[in-house]
Order: sequence, then C-alpha cells, then structure tokens
Amino acid sequence: MRHLPTYFALAALAPAVLGAQMPADLVLVNGTIYTVDKTRPVVSALAVARGLILFAGSDADAKALANAATSVIDLHGATVVPGFTDAHAHLLGLGDMLRRVNLAGSSSYDEVIDRVKARAKDVKPGEWIRGRGWDQNRWPSKEFPTHDALSRAFPNNPVVLERVDGHAYLANAKAMEIARVSVSTADPEGGRIIRLASGAPSGVFVDNAQSLIDRAIPASTRDDTRKAIIAAIAECNRWGLTGIHDAGEDAATIGIFEELAKAGSYNLRNYVMLSDPGEPGSPAALGNPYLRRGPQSALYDGHLWIRAIKLYADGALGSRGAALLAPYADEPANSGLLLSRPEHIRAWADAALRSGFQVNVHAIGDRGNRVVLDAFESALRTAPKPDHRFRIEHAQVLSAEDIPRFAKLGVIPSMQPTHQTSDMGWAETRVGPQRIRGAYAWRSLLNTGVVIPSGTDFPVEEVNPLLTFHAAVTRQDPRNLPLGGWYPDQKMTRDEALQSRTIWPAYAGFQESVLGSLTTGKYADFVVLDRDIMRIPDTEILGTRVISTWIGGKRVYEAK
Ligand SMILES: [Zn+2]
Repeated sequence: MRHLPTYFALAALAPAVLGAQMPADLVLVNGTIYTVDKTRPVVSALAVARGLILFAGSDADAKALANAATSVIDLHGATVVPGFTDAHAHLLGLGDMLRRVNLAGSSSYDEVIDRVKARAKDVKPGEWIRGRGWDQNRWPSKEFPTHDALSRAFPNNPVVLERVDGHAYLANAKAMEIARVSVSTADPEGGRIIRLASGAPSGVFVDNAQSLIDRAIPASTRDDTRKAIIAAIAECNRWGLTGIHDAGEDAATIGIFEELAKAGSYNLRNYVMLSDPGEPGSPAALGNPYLRRGPQSALYDGHLWIRAIKLYADGALGSRGAALLAPYADEPANSGLLLSRPEHIRAWADAALRSGFQVNVHAIGDRGNRVVLDAFESALRTAPKPDHRFRIEHAQVLSAEDIPRFAKLGVIPSMQPTHQTSDMGWAETRVGPQRIRGAYAWRSLLNTGVVIPSGTDFPVEEVNPLLTFHAAVTRQDPRNLPLGGWYPDQKMTRDEALQSRTIWPAYAGFQESVLGSLTTGKYADFVVLDRDIMRIPDTEILGTRVISTWIGGKRVYEAK
C-alpha cells in the first residue's frame, strides 16, 4: 500500500481510560494475549463490555473494571489471538460438503458401506444419501467398485458417492433406476459409464457421465440450504474462525444469511462477495437486489458486509485451466484459458469505482493476473480513487514484472498458503523452473509493501487456520516436508502469518476500524489456544487445539 493501513492510527486513539466509567461484562486474566495492535502487542488480560474490547493490558487493571456481575475467567496461561478470519472461502460449499457422508481415507469398499450405514440410520425410504471422498487406490483391489454391494445395503434409497477428486460417482441401483440409466444409455460427450461385461452400467460414472445422475437428484430446498449454512458456521467456530470472506454467493443464499443474522443466530462475521452478476447494466445485474441496494457494511451488529463483487479471470493450475502467458511446461500446445473477457472485468471495475463496490477477481495464471491488473489500471487511470482496495483472489503465478504492480496500483493479493503446500508436488511440472519463482510468492509481494490477507478456499482445502499459519511460516506440508521448506525464501514470519489471518483480512474488507486486532473499541472476537503459536517450534504448531472461540464477547465454541 502507498498509504499506511489505517489501523495504525486507530490503535493510537484507543483510550485506555474509557473503561473507567463502564463496568466489564467479561474479564479474562492470566493469559498470553497477542493483540495484533502494535501499540500494545502482548498483554495478559482483556476486558469486554457490550461485545466490544473495553481494555487490553495488565491483570490488575482489567480486574479493576469488574464488578459483582462481571464474569472473570482465568486463562491459566493459555494463548489468545484475535479471531481468525478466512479471507477466501465458500460457506455454503462447506455446508453442502458437511451434509455428505465423509468417505475420505476409507481403506476398503466394505468400510465405505459401513460409513454410509452409520450416517444413514435415520433417513426415510426414498431419500437421497450422498457421500464423498472414496478412493479405490487405497483399497486392496485398487479397482473401481461395482454397485452390487451398495445396492444390497441400500435397496430402498438412492445413494450417490463422489470419488475423492470429484471426477467420478458410484451410484446404487435405486439411484440409477430413478435417473433412468440402463444398459441402453449411451456415454455422453466428455463422460464415460463404466460397464459390466454384459454392457450394463457398473455404477461408476466418470466426468460428464456424472450429469446423468445429477439430473435426478432433487434440488436443495431452502431449509436444506439453511441447515447447511448453520452447520458450516459451527464448523468454522470449531476451528477458531470468527470471520470469513465468502468468495461468491447468490442472492438467495445471501437472503438466508440475512434472515439468520437478523434472528441473532449467525455466529460469524461474513464479508460476502456477490457471484459474478453478469454484465453491468444487464437485466441480471439490474435485477440483483444486492447491487441495487448498494454497498452495505456491518449489518446486524457487524455480522454481514455486502459490498464486493467476485469475478473469474481464469481457471486452475491443477487442471491446466489457468491462463498463462506462455504454454504449460508439461503441455506445450496449451496456455490455459480466460473465463471472462478482459472487457468484462474492466466494465465492473469502472462500475464499481462509481458505486463503491469492491471488485475481487479470481486469477491463477500469470496471464490471468496480468489481464486483471491491466483492467484495474486502466479503470483507475480513468477514474482515480485512492482507497478502492480492489483484490486479486489467489494471485498464484505472477510474472516478475507484475509483482510490483500490486503495490503501485493498491491492489491486494488475497492468497491461500495451503494451496502452496497442496500443489508443490506438481506445480513446477506445470510451469517450469523459471515461472515457479513467481508462484505462491508471498515474500516477493510483501517486500513491495502490500498486505496479504490469507485463507483456504474451503472446502477446497481444510478449514483449520493453523494449517495456513503452519504453511505460511514453513512452506512445508503437515508432516513438515520438505525439510527446510519448498522455496523457503518466500516464507512469512509468524507476525506476518498472524496478521494475514487477522488484521490484513480486516483491511481487505474495509473492516479494520472494528475487526482484526484486540484494540479498545473493536469487536471482542478472539480465540483461546492451548499452545503459544508465536513461540513453539514449527513442528508443534499443528498440535495446537482451540479451547474456545468468542464473537462479540460471546462464547460460540468450547472444546469438550
Ligand atoms: Zn474460491
């Protein structure tokens, strides 16, 4: 940023004496509290009143703010940090995933069936049962299963189980019957029905053949969606998340968020991005109630922000859909593809500079990123605006000359450290030894003066923010490999990694005056951890457990 993030100024304003008049509702003492507030970085006590931080400092001063009605908690030396925020995630995607039977890691087909049985005890006849995560490469035979055993176990319910990579289904007889798939069904283009010797479908449907089953699955009801959202929020709280930036939701889903938040049952601060609304001025965009309403901040006591638009420049690196400036190293005829025309991104940047929305564009490849930077640059040249905080989501592979453009233009790279640890086994094969230097290049970007809000893209990666913290400071997978880290010169420091899950997301969401640090006057959102993640050895970070999660001074999760 060319401008100092405003939290420096705000922290300086925090009046420690403000508490003298107001008794605390809650006091926590005897902790190691990392405030992410540079004026008072480590304290032992917090006082909370009406959902806000009243005071951060010494035990004695915090206790002085208590009266008979105050609840006082002894932290017994536990560590406290500001509530973690995931700067790029998909809440409904997580909720949908949680409602499916988890088959990940199952070591045989029998185990798959047992796990489905255990979860499906209460389903009514005819109800669809869905699962995900099987992988026949983990089974003794290593061959695709056939539906018989599954059909015998569930004669009255359609069952569809997604393979770990999402590229195949296993369906039982009931599901195939409802989907009207039979020996005479032809393979669709781009898809394959695995068949028995008789020609009958085996139950496994690959790629586009999955749509033959999909079309038979009833659409989620509004109540299903509501339940999925509530489950996802509880899952977030369990991992110490108090906020997320939701990377693209439709109006119907946001409507449910509002309903829950209005009722006080939305234990999350969600910075929501509207899914690509079509061309500015198109009937779809004009009909979008959230665009019509204009940018909204801190709705329902700071639970919803609806002031950003999510666009896509390109695809992903794993499937070679990310747009590159030169062909893939491992597929010389392919340079990936752009998912949006550059004019589409430019048009939204222009419209957003007028309306006050933020534009956040998914870009993975170096060409995808350049197209977005170019679009932002030309829009800003036409209508300069100092505090636009436009973002690129992922900013994964960058050409060396584009790295300084983020700071120059004030564009925020929103990145996912666990993508680096998940991709490091094959990323260099895709882009080769030169371009890999600009991939997952956190240090190169930080050195130019930008902030990097970080997240997971869950449910693509796991929710656990400590995996992000660990990856950011080690560039190692959860087994602490490779030794020394993958391209270790790009590591973040622990201070940076903590900021990238707290104050930097707050900045990227125009929330730094109310979120992101434990500073007087901000929301009392924090997490209690059983280990001091700022001091323990790298290899112990992932052993850390969340003891409790607090939003607005209210405990929303407590470990059993
Ligand atoms: Zn995403």
